[in-house]
Amino acid sequence: MNSMNAPEEIVLHGIAAAPGIVMGPAYLFEKHIPRIEEKSIAAEDVEREINRLKNAVARSEKELQKILSLAEQKMGDNKAKVFEAQIMILNDMILFNAIYHRIERERKNSEFVVHGEITKYQQVMLSSSDEYMRERVHDVEDVKNRVIRNIQHEKILSRFDDHSIVVAPILTPADTILFSRNEVLGYATDSGGNTSHAALFARALKIPSVVGLKNVTSCVHTGDYLVVDGYNGVVIVHPSEKTKTECRERIERFDAFEATLNTLRSLPATTIDGKHIMLTSNIEFPEEIDYVNAQGSEGIGLYRTEGVLMGRDSFPPEEEQYEQYKTVADKAFPHSVIMRTFDIGGDKVMAQEHFEENPFLGWRGIRLSLDRPEIFLPQIHALLRASVRGNVRIMLPMVSGLKEIRLAKKFIEEAKAKLRQNNVPFDEAIKIGVMIEVPSAALLAGEIAQEVDFLSIGTNDLIQYLLAVDRDNEVVSSLYQEFHPAVLRTIDHIIREAKRHHTPVGMCGEMAGDPLATLLLLGLGLDAFSVVPTVLPEIKKIIRAVSIVEAKEIASRALAMDSEEDIKEFLRINLAAIAPDIPLPEE
Ligand code: PEP
Ligand code: MG
Repeated sequence: MNSMNAPEEIVLHGIAAAPGIVMGPAYLFEKHIPRIEEKSIAAEDVEREINRLKNAVARSEKELQKILSLAEQKMGDNKAKVFEAQIMILNDMILFNAIYHRIERERKNSEFVVHGEITKYQQVMLSSSDEYMRERVHDVEDVKNRVIRNIQHEKILSRFDDHSIVVAPILTPADTILFSRNEVLGYATDSGGNTSHAALFARALKIPSVVGLKNVTSCVHTGDYLVVDGYNGVVIVHPSEKTKTECRERIERFDAFEATLNTLRSLPATTIDGKHIMLTSNIEFPEEIDYVNAQGSEGIGLYRTEGVLMGRDSFPPEEEQYEQYKTVADKAFPHSVIMRTFDIGGDKVMAQEHFEENPFLGWRGIRLSLDRPEIFLPQIHALLRASVRGNVRIMLPMVSGLKEIRLAKKFIEEAKAKLRQNNVPFDEAIKIGVMIEVPSAALLAGEIAQEVDFLSIGTNDLIQYLLAVDRDNEVVSSLYQEFHPAVLRTIDHIIREAKRHHTPVGMCGEMAGDPLATLLLLGLGLDAFSVVPTVLPEIKKIIRAVSIVEAKEIASRALAMDSEEDIKEFLRINLAAIAPDIPLPEE
């Protein structure tokens, strides 16, 4: 490239996943296509390199053991044999001794040697006349990639410069957390939807992000200067001086708007005709609560307990869970915390360790908990023990019908009986609620409302299941519509049914934190909103600017419309009239 000519500005459009604008250098993170570079290492580093490899092998074996036991349980011994064979490869001392010797002798980096030696092994298998042997080449490939990934995992953070924008094909929730611990500026990814858990975490961690950019990784090199506009879903590569100035001005404007929101923090979320709305926050980690309290939140409407699993490869024991839940309950006190039992599976933590063709339709949430009492019961014990101050509620995810609720309640009663027996205190009046996020549960909202103490609408999943649109798939992201007429009517049905049975109903899906939805949801009668804490003051501002009478009128007109475009346009006009300074994404 000619250094005299500034590279041309490239504007890429994706999906706004976490708000905010940032500028800075890119760090290209390509963990899925590990690039194996040949590097020489100094004599004094040989031992460290070998240890690194040994750790990676041990870690890979641990991962495979866990997959093996899950696979045996769910797929039967036969299919699980694949993983047994993979573990045997890791224990093949002839192979690994050859690798260790080569690292010592040739002083090359471990992933280069691992790649070379295992590829040789694969070539021998491929030339075999035995078809079975040839088919096993893929399993060996998996083992190779797993070991290399584990070696590189350790190396990623040592290469990552703080204050960079991570550009990647896709990020997992674990990656999002990993980088956030190193002061990442922003995220830009080829794939992903804005309710993927990586996106949710980015929002919770206040890291501006754009996902679903399709080809950002092919336009960017490490070190390139970028703008990430997480409000509008735009990434600009090599921004011109003019663009940079404009961005700086926009950042200043947003900062000034944020400052005006500060005055709202201590005010209640009450409409102008006096209806108090329970405005709470969604969190994943205890560390977030100080920020949540500072934002003027009335407690936690969704604590995704999967946060306790982050960065670990086994379920934490009851005691460790109890410590975390107790910290959350204490920090939120006197406000209440809705703690959701593990919602593992789908795109979440540990999902990668148990392969399913359709994980979102698979072994996820309450299904896994009910099948695995040895996971569910310690969690319930820990949650109950954390409830002594009376401010904890338990919520069940991914419920599709009454049977699951009744069974879960039986487990909860069993746990309570055990605690009583051992004189361990807990809140005897603890409330149990259910997420309404599967269409069957939405249809049964009335029956479910009679079975539990509260309902919480999980629009992130409800929309994907109702409209049959994968929440993580950018190819169909335009079909993932919060304001689809069927979504509005389903929410209306759930709220009506809950009210008919005097069961409180809230919403903790991302829609609750979308300013464009606030008037509508108020008008439909929603009593509690749980939102990502960054947007809480904005939502409060809208609530305080409208009357329920007005909101009801808006909701009933929106409900009568039959197109998403019309509904959005109608809500946009109304919001602009009621709260003109609320920034909305450009259409
Ligand atoms: C939801 O589905 O709306 C929800 C809040 O749960 P999660 O995003 O954790 O699946
Ligand atoms: Mg959900």
